[in-house]
Amino acid sequence: MNGEPAFDYLIVGAGFAGSVLAERLASVLGKKVLICDKRNHIGGNAYDHFDAAGLLVHKYGPHIFHTNSADVFNYLSKFTAWREYQHRVLASVDGQLLPIPINLDTINKFYGLNLTSREVDDFLDTVAEQRNPVRTSEDVVVNRVGQELYSKFFKNYTRKQWGLDPSELEAQVTARIPVRINRDDRYFTDQFQSMPRRGFTHMFENMLDHPNIKILLNCDYREVQDAFTFGQMIYTGPVDAFFDYRFGKLPYRSLEFRHETHDRERFQPAPVVNFPNDYAFTRITEFKYLTGQEHRKTSIVYEFPQAEGDPYYPVPQPANAKIYAQYRALADTTPGVHFVGRLATYKYYNMDQVVAQALTVFKNIAAAEAAGALSNGEIKPAATRTVGRNRVHNKPGRRPVLQPART
Ligand code: FAD
Ligand code: UDP
Repeated sequence: MNGEPAFDYLIVGAGFAGSVLAERLASVLGKKVLICDKRNHIGGNAYDHFDAAGLLVHKYGPHIFHTNSADVFNYLSKFTAWREYQHRVLASVDGQLLPIPINLDTINKFYGLNLTSREVDDFLDTVAEQRNPVRTSEDVVVNRVGQELYSKFFKNYTRKQWGLDPSELEAQVTARIPVRINRDDRYFTDQFQSMPRRGFTHMFENMLDHPNIKILLNCDYREVQDAFTFGQMIYTGPVDAFFDYRFGKLPYRSLEFRHETHDRERFQPAPVVNFPNDYAFTRITEFKYLTGQEHRKTSIVYEFPQAEGDPYYPVPQPANAKIYAQYRALADTTPGVHFVGRLATYKYYNMDQVVAQALTVFKNIAAAEAAGALSNGEIKPAATRTVGRNRVHNKPGRRPVLQPART
């Protein structure tokens, strides 16, 4: 034992946030990294695998990669080839399957009209209910398309998905879904839209395939933080759990997934069908559309929203933003720990946004190292700076601090 820690970094969580940082720290800075996940696989919520029928499915619901960032796309392209894919969704409303996001065809079919793009804009002006300011998720939709379309396409879906009325959610939630006056029926219009050709998990395997990266699965970080010595921590789990819920629990919305395989080639006429008004589930995804796989059977997944269970969605509400601000202040002043990703920064981020965030954190770490700040004490977290063998102590009610290891 030479006093050096066994690992430069302990990374908690092997999803996008943790895997990007593991890869960058190992390949660019030559750091020794231990990445652990309490699940039995890498990839976080983007994990995919072949099911019993041999169909590639997404264990935690449909994941479609889309971004406007060439940096993010080019970075991930080091680890995967791509299959171009444009995502499309139909909503089941009043016995019809209509395009969502709402577009010209949705409006014509829903109202039994035959409007042109120019006419539909005027039509929307007549049905829209002006909201000023646009503050909530109800405001966003009603302000653009009025009460009727709002009620049929958004109100009940949102109540089901979040257990909250759209009027209780910040505008950003329904603002994810645009309204179009043309016939474009794609769910996303980003510049880059493709799926990893051999799946997300294969891409993650390539990212983590480095001699400096060790992977530990089925393992909560609390079980290993005292067993290994390490310099700094990258934490990508829920931020409130890290601090033992000191400021109260942050709500994360959960889902139950019901996977099924059907003995026929096609199950439904679109990759995803949304069910805003009926049933306990919100949507059904048929994976073959996403993956391009050819198979005589087909696998689908239903999503049933629920309060309890694995944390999947931060809940964008002003009261939660206030609680998060307290955790954020603590996180910012917790030495030796970087909080990254959707759960740790309590942001309703897509995959590309998490990759971008992780790349930024990496740049900051690299810049600090280059400037020598880590060794001259400007940045406190470098545990190795003092004793070499340190641990994060995270006892209930105590602020985690880096302390020399007991020998
Ligand atoms: P995660 O993937 O959640 O990874 C965090 C990891 O930390 C988890 O594996 C967890 O097990 C682990 N962990 C937590 N606590 C501990 C602990 N104490 N010890 C050890 N390990 C721990 N984004 C898109 O861009 N396109 C989509 O189509 C899309 N669809 C989605 C559909 C659903 C149903 C959901 C839920 C999300 C979707 N997303 C989509 C968002 C996407 O999943 C996230 O942006 C991304 O996966 C977040 O990566 P992350 O690394 O921040 O978190
Ligand atoms: N939404 C809705 N009806 C729809 C689709 C979406 O009301 O048919 C609302 C709902 O509140 C949902 C949000 O818009 O949670 C964002 O939808 P998105 O498809 O982006 O959700 P995600 O894929 O992140 O679950």
